[in-house]
Amino acid sequence: MSLNDEEIYEAISEILPKLGAETSSTVLGAGSDDLEAGRNYLQVLVEEGWMLPTWPQKYGGRNSTPEEASQISKTLGLFEGADLYPYGVGLSLVGPVLMELGTDDQMNRWLLPIANGSEIWCQMFSEPDAGSDLANVGMSAEKDGEEWILNGSKVWTSRGAYSKWGMCLARTDPETTKHSGLTMFAVDMKSPGIEVRTIEQMNGDRHFSEVFVSDVAVEDRNRIGNLGDGWKIAVKTLALERSSLGGRSFGGGDQSNGLPTWLEDWKVKGYLDDPVSRQKAMKAFMLHRVNQLTVLRAASSGNSSGPAGSGAKLRSVLAFKFRAYLSKEFFGAEGMLVNDHEHIEFLTGPSMSIRGGTDEVQRNILGERVLGLPTEHRVDKEGSYRDLVRGK
Ligand SMILES: Cc1cc2nc3c(=O)[nH]c(=O)nc-3n(C[C@H](O)[C@H](O)[C@H](O)COP(=O)(O)OP(=O)(O)OC[C@H]3O[C@@H](n4cnc5c(N)ncnc54)[C@H](O)[C@@H]3O)c2cc1C
Repeated sequence: MSLNDEEIYEAISEILPKLGAETSSTVLGAGSDDLEAGRNYLQVLVEEGWMLPTWPQKYGGRNSTPEEASQISKTLGLFEGADLYPYGVGLSLVGPVLMELGTDDQMNRWLLPIANGSEIWCQMFSEPDAGSDLANVGMSAEKDGEEWILNGSKVWTSRGAYSKWGMCLARTDPETTKHSGLTMFAVDMKSPGIEVRTIEQMNGDRHFSEVFVSDVAVEDRNRIGNLGDGWKIAVKTLALERSSLGGRSFGGGDQSNGLPTWLEDWKVKGYLDDPVSRQKAMKAFMLHRVNQLTVLRAASSGNSSGPAGSGAKLRSVLAFKFRAYLSKEFFGAEGMLVNDHEHIEFLTGPSMSIRGGTDEVQRNILGERVLGLPTEHRVDKEGSYRDLVRGK
């Protein structure tokens, strides 16, 4: 039976502290990649299934309806949280994909450790020659008895250095077309033959990496979905990623008065005293709130992934960047000398338009799949992958 709003609030207030005015916003992927805080938070929530309410109880959820889940998510925003960035791929991408396509054995092995934070996943999709053009993935997977032998390299693999599992797109059949020769695997990141080299970003993050894969053996029972279905699964995963990126309020932990902590902070610092600055601040607030409400509406109708996720991602990136750059502007010339939380957000801004698919790619998706505009000219859909002319 679904709980009402007060019952949800009551139950959560027994296990989490209320959000304080001093609680800082979190930056997606920036900062410490503090694994401990996120794991503790998940372990507190998993008992009653608050973190992943729509998941089945045995995997760490509480079988909630989309309406109840949306209310729970709104209520959690009123309490202190933790930066769950390290756990994002498992919670938002791998979990839902496994629930749709995983075998019973895979769900039993992987879902609860995802929900309680004991096993972290990363997403091994992008390669030096496969980013926006993801179907160009060249990592090979060749069958050898009950195993697959993987060779190649991935890049921009966030969380690669501390993940237990990698959701990895690889080419199992180079003779067929580019899109149909791909298969999805779960790779144990501690397997012999995996080398992870971290890359430092301009905001100081060291969370993403190059991953070199040399003769890595993957058991066939760790293949996700059918042979040759890798592209379909990648598209599904990316749609989930966009909606989850778009679904974050990006550092806007709302307090009971409905104002995000950053707006309160600007008020306290006197940035809202001058009418021109106040007008800019209100624009930041409106972008934030429109994104938040649209995401909540999509979630309560159970319609937050698919092409709608591209709209959510574009809106949330716009809101995040506008706020981060405005915060720097409010600081004035002195802003160039500080290295605080706002500065990290400022330096994180540009990457928001790239990760999870670039702004241009999101607009292509909306144009083609929502507005029905003519599709881009594609010359590489037919013929074998092996014969395609590709960058070297
Ligand atoms: C912080 C961060 C974290 C990331 N984490 C991961 C991760 O965990 N796992 C993972 O697999 N990948 C990850 N990525 C990689 C990310 O998905 C890719 O960077 C992204 O898809 C773009 O690919 P690319 O870098 O190869 O750029 P390209 O695809 O080479 O694009 C270059 C430029 O061309 C434009 N462009 C390309 N094609 C088109 C087109 N058809 N129409 C219009 N414009 C186009 C792009 O918009 C872009 O401006 C991460 C990236 C960042 C920045």
